[in-house]
Amino acid sequence: MPRIGSRLYLTVDAGPIYDVHGTLIAVVQTIRDNTDYKNVQSKLEKMAITDELTGLYNRRYFTDHLDMEWRRGMPSREPFALIFLDIDYFKQYNDLYGHLVGDDCLKSIATTLQQSLLRATDMATRYGGEEFCILLPNTSLNGALKVAAQVQANIKRLQIPHADSPISSSITISAGVASLVPTTEDSPSRLSLADRALYEAKGRGRDQTVASDTC
Ligand code: GH3
Ligand code: MG
Ligand code: MG
Repeated sequence: MPRIGSRLYLTVDAGPIYDVHGTLIAVVQTIRDNTDYKNVQSKLEKMAITDELTGLYNRRYFTDHLDMEWRRGMPSREPFALIFLDIDYFKQYNDLYGHLVGDDCLKSIATTLQQSLLRATDMATRYGGEEFCILLPNTSLNGALKVAAQVQANIKRLQIPHADSPISSSITISAGVASLVPTTEDSPSRLSLADRALYEAKGRGRDQTVASDTC
């Protein structure tokens, strides 16, 4: 309804009425305003795929999206990349500053992740507590490493103080990167490669990125 600047969801039913000879004599039309119902439905749909704290997509949506990306990339064997990210020494951060400040930190990191992504098809997710995942369609390992470096630099620039971190005076993150070519034999479980690379980054001292082909 452009003139009053609002949007309505209407359902329209039309039923014919015939006389005894079968001649159409009228049409009864019912118009129902389903706007409230539709708005609630849209809100619920959005809630189901969104992480409440950070506003990023949640893990469930990520898993579905990954499946779809995998199948979509199969015919063209188009590579896509994953970056797993985990905040370093976040337990100590919570212990020192409290859970609410911890929540604020997660929100800032989430915003920074989102702002670090340049393509509309790139997707940031809150994978779990203080773990995030970025999905980069049509991206090589080198491309993904550049994105990871950018994310890490942007997070460093936030200068979120972390007085109990043994490696830095501010919040740092570790990252594991993998790029994969979807094939019929493969399955998205291969993406545990990125997870393993992240584990390796932690083992090598944190505050760094490791590519899956180097571990
Ligand atoms: P590492 O460098 O090895 O990753 O150590 P870490 O302390 O970051 O990892 P660990 O898995 O021991 O602790 C994760 C912490 O993240 C513990 C938990 O309290 C915190 N955390 C998880 N989810 C939330 C959340 O929603 N809010 C806040 N404030 N903290 C959270
Ligand atoms: Mg963790
Ligand atoms: Mg951590």
